[in-house]
Amino acid sequence: MLRTFMTFIWAAGLSAALASVPMFEASAQDSDTVTAQKLRDAALTDRFGYRFVETLTTTIGQRLAGTEAMTRASLLAESTLLAAGFDNVHRESFPITAWMRGREEAEVTAPSSQRLVVATLGGSVATPPGGVETEIVVFARYSQLLAAAPGSLDGKIAVVTEAMPRVMDGSSYGAAISIRRSGPSEAAKRGAIAYLHRSLGTDDHRLAHVGATNYLEGVKRIPAAALSVPDAQQLARMAALGKVRIRLVLTPTSDEHAQSWTVSGEVRGSERPDEIVLIGAHLDSWDLGTGAIDDGAGVAIVLGAANLIAQLKPHAKRTLRVVLFGAEEMNYSGPAYAKMHADDIPHIVLAGEADFGARRVYTFLAPAGAMNTPFLQTLADTLNPLGIFLTRQPATNSGDDIAPLHDAGVPVIALRQNGIDYFDIHHTADDTFDKIDPQELAQATAAWVAAVYLALQSELDFRKAAKDFKN
Ligand code: ZN
Ligand code: ZN
Repeated sequence: MLRTFMTFIWAAGLSAALASVPMFEASAQDSDTVTAQKLRDAALTDRFGYRFVETLTTTIGQRLAGTEAMTRASLLAESTLLAAGFDNVHRESFPITAWMRGREEAEVTAPSSQRLVVATLGGSVATPPGGVETEIVVFARYSQLLAAAPGSLDGKIAVVTEAMPRVMDGSSYGAAISIRRSGPSEAAKRGAIAYLHRSLGTDDHRLAHVGATNYLEGVKRIPAAALSVPDAQQLARMAALGKVRIRLVLTPTSDEHAQSWTVSGEVRGSERPDEIVLIGAHLDSWDLGTGAIDDGAGVAIVLGAANLIAQLKPHAKRTLRVVLFGAEEMNYSGPAYAKMHADDIPHIVLAGEADFGARRVYTFLAPAGAMNTPFLQTLADTLNPLGIFLTRQPATNSGDDIAPLHDAGVPVIALRQNGIDYFDIHHTADDTFDKIDPQELAQATAAWVAAVYLALQSELDFRKAAKDFKN
């Protein structure tokens, strides 16, 4: 039935799918299961979240934390939550070091002159204004850089060309992330004066994938950038033939006294308002594209789900809090939120974050200790018609912004989206609104709204279940 319904939506095309009519009605007599099904089905045709990410990316565009654009995005999110009738809507600021891209130029100067496509890593220091020009040392594997002796890279530019495999769940990104996060300091320890690495991406376009790097304390900070995948391959071929020299100019700047904004709103619980289910996504983005799949889509999913739940009369039993974090990419907003809301943490019974693109959800991981409970069985049955199965291991993470909450004892639920082509676009200039398929986004929103509603209604003490599970 649902499959036929979804095929119809698909076939009927955009015009029918975008018609904004009220699609959802649940009566007080409905069982939780029936209401969850109605919410799920309403989300398949609702376009609230999709419209929000369209407005966000079109009228604001990039939202690098610390820019005026990010401030405007926080105002847009605040006014959207207010207009949709959320309770306790507010923006909260927190301190950050704002990092801004400058010029970024790279070229091979010998044996032949060739331009290279690079993106400065977030947090990178600048080269001298005239740049650096020196010989490169290429490492096919990051482990080979780590095995290089101290002093072996004196005065050179280290280049790591290791590839990141394409996988559906994105786990290869976690496996490769040290190349970007730790590579510059590891190269500096061995004497390098700059660092380049093959983008953590699965595409073959001449677009570099940006991302944050983290310098080690006590190690000289050297300028660092990502190469597009074809440029990294080109350097590997050239280096195999003989000596290669590169000129690199990077002129980023930092402001240690900047701030960003996290925006939140609530749907106050009708029976147990002091018990909070928190769902989040991040409003900030990198600066090369318009932050559509990372993480405008996640914002669309949680806003879309929360907006449907806000319309329920009476409200669901527990309180729903939606949090749009304001500096995930440089890892400020999660720790800042946990610190500012330390008193709330004991009241947060469950949390989840949507930060893996705009494609459909294909599996979900339950909160620890929730296996074999009525909550989980009903959820699995409600999500099954969407083509979603239960992975039989507990969720241990659900997004970087809520990781500090999880560390402080908040159980998490994870809805995993198909990420098979996520890292083709992630953190590149190609991260734009046209990449979002409204039907896939709607399916993900349908999965979230059902999961969130059932968690709001559940009698299950998620925190106790997680604690018992650990012991
Ligand atoms: Zn993200
Ligand atoms: Zn990101």
